[in-house]
Amino acid sequence: MSFESLGLMAELHRAVSEKGYNTPTPIQTQAIPTVLQGRDLMGGAQTGTGKTAGFTLPLLQRLMETDTHNGKGRRPLRALVLTPTRELAAQVADSVREYGRYLPLRSTVVFGGVSINPQKMKLIKGVDILVATPGRLLDHVGQRSVDLSNIDILVLDEADRMLDMGFIHDIKKVLALVPEKKQTLLFSATFSDDIKKLANGLLKNPALV
Ligand code: AMP
Repeated sequence: MSFESLGLMAELHRAVSEKGYNTPTPIQTQAIPTVLQGRDLMGGAQTGTGKTAGFTLPLLQRLMETDTHNGKGRRPLRALVLTPTRELAAQVADSVREYGRYLPLRSTVVFGGVSINPQKMKLIKGVDILVATPGRLLDHVGQRSVDLSNIDILVLDEADRMLDMGFIHDIKKVLALVPEKKQTLLFSATFSDDIKKLANGLLKNPALV
């Protein structure tokens, strides 16, 4: 099995082969074709399984395939990745940047505990992909530095930890701001009743990986 045979574009397998990855991990083998088809996905995966590349690579490709921006004006924000902690947000944002290095997409990351203004400046320039922790994302919504009305792909990474950390109300606020019609990917290491409830309300006919 190779990254090419999963249907990934040349710019993406070039980036992964430069990272030294030769073969996709099991979750990548399952998740990448599913996400490329545009399906919702519920992934049971811990860190260390390669799940970040498993959602980031096909997410980048979907954004390329559906890019209708004419180059004029600010690029609309089309993909949002929510993570529970700033460490994970920074890590996912690094992956987005590295895997997308040969693509003309822009991304940034926002999390709390640091000054909001530099984040605002980056958002105002226009990005395709935003990686965020829920609280700081809502601060940006409140200050109108981010518009969630064009989101095509939403990823909830480590959803169980987000619920454990008490982010359910913030997540619900975010869900109310993104379009109803979108592709949603939810990753969780554990599947409590609360996660199942969240997934049931959010995912449409998801593939289980
Ligand atoms: P993750 O589970 O997404 O946190 O990834 C765990 C680690 O595996 C990260 O350091 C990745 O750089 C690495 N990794 C991801 N996919 C592959 C792959 N297909 N082959 C080798 N290493 C990988």
